[in-house]
Amino acid sequence: MLEKLFGIFSKKQFSSIESSTLGLKKDLISYPALAIIRKLKRSGWDAFIVGGAVRDLVLNVKPKDFDIVTNASPYEIKGLFRRSRIIGRRFRIVHVYIGNETIEVSTFRKRNVSNASDSFGRILRDNVYGSIEDDVKRRDLTINSLYYDPLSERILDYHNGISDLRKREIVVIGKVKERLIEDPLRIIRIIRIAAKLDLNIPAKLKNVMRGRGVLLENIPKARLSDDLLKLFVSGKSLQGFSYILDLGLDKHVFPNLGFFPLEKKKGLGNLKKDGFIYSALKNLDEKVKNNETISISFIFAVLFWEKISKLKVSYDEQGFSDYLSMQMATSEILQDINQNFYFQRKHIAGVRELCLLQSRFDKFVGKSPFSLVRHARFSSALKLLELRVKLNEVNIETVVWWDKFHTCPDSEKVQMLNVMRSKTGQQRSFKKRRKKKLVTT
Ligand code: ATP
Ligand code: MG
Repeated sequence: MLEKLFGIFSKKQFSSIESSTLGLKKDLISYPALAIIRKLKRSGWDAFIVGGAVRDLVLNVKPKDFDIVTNASPYEIKGLFRRSRIIGRRFRIVHVYIGNETIEVSTFRKRNVSNASDSFGRILRDNVYGSIEDDVKRRDLTINSLYYDPLSERILDYHNGISDLRKREIVVIGKVKERLIEDPLRIIRIIRIAAKLDLNIPAKLKNVMRGRGVLLENIPKARLSDDLLKLFVSGKSLQGFSYILDLGLDKHVFPNLGFFPLEKKKGLGNLKKDGFIYSALKNLDEKVKNNETISISFIFAVLFWEKISKLKVSYDEQGFSDYLSMQMATSEILQDINQNFYFQRKHIAGVRELCLLQSRFDKFVGKSPFSLVRHARFSSALKLLELRVKLNEVNIETVVWWDKFHTCPDSEKVQMLNVMRSKTGQQRSFKKRRKKKLVTT
């Protein structure tokens, strides 16, 4: 039935499906992607939108980015587009710039298993040009191996990707174990894509992912961190992170930490409902859905908070000041994490700032309360404070107080502070000093 509908062409190697039969909305395609395909095709080349963009279009989801593949070589592509640049040393691809969009255009590539791999079987080079048939074999999932020509309005489907999309199921191309060994990052990709699109990861595949999780320790940390970050900002971080815990991958992804044991539901690897991490990720997902700005530093501050907070307590007990304890704990934990996780400097600085601001929520003297509410990270810091109520580290009254103090007029601020100072026994730290008289001789 499906075959009749889709009409199967040439040697049954692939199905060629009319995109209109799938209800694919052309207005979700970016203009630059269309313009590039038009130009390549007019010059006699084959050109398709490929990968996640086609998958998303079929599911009526606006794609995050558009990847284009063609049989033209990088130099031939570059020759066609004035504003373009060849990038990559191992495998050259072309960035074409149209307006303020950058579109990645690559030449069909071959899966190159005979080429260099490390002692774990991870492929180190994947750099041989090939045909579309070769290109399709190197892709990870059946749903990611659809080739869409928006001009002829046809989708080439080599691996029943459309049928798997209809079943909403993740299926790996080729032998699952082999494909996860040759690139373990695919484990995270599967989780990310399944979470993003509410797709099912079959139990058998989950078992293989669980068993191969250790290989995640062997991939370059920048690559791993990049994909994890994509997961956290996908709007489905809660689902994605639950998968990571469920499959026991957290110890491989953040090996130095073994963090928040209290947060895990007993037995299951899932997050405790309405717990600290659960609530933070749920809130984050809502923000993404509402197109609100989110802070990467906030995500990491939340994930690593429990570890930082415990270490801080141990420094408190050794008699260090509140601020110094927090400073030492934050630096130590961040350094520890940084060994396995690639952090951009600005994110490290952000996490540090958010943690240090926590200490200032106990200070009601001097100018500190006024400058705190004016701080660029005040909202994120207050959100973290609010979440800490769930860890019994903070009273909800303190959060409510700061929320009110933040928004009320200055005259009321002074009154609020007076009440708080007498309640906490904190004295004004800035006593008016008598101006020293200038002695002239
Ligand atoms: P997203 O929606 O996050 O962009 P995506 O599947 O498009 O998801 P990209 O990183 O943009 O992810 O990759 C584009 C395509 O390249 C994928 O759909 C897939 O076909 C292929 N691809 C990317 N990474 C891998 C990999 N590690 N192994 C095999 N194929 C990959
Ligand atoms: Mg993509």
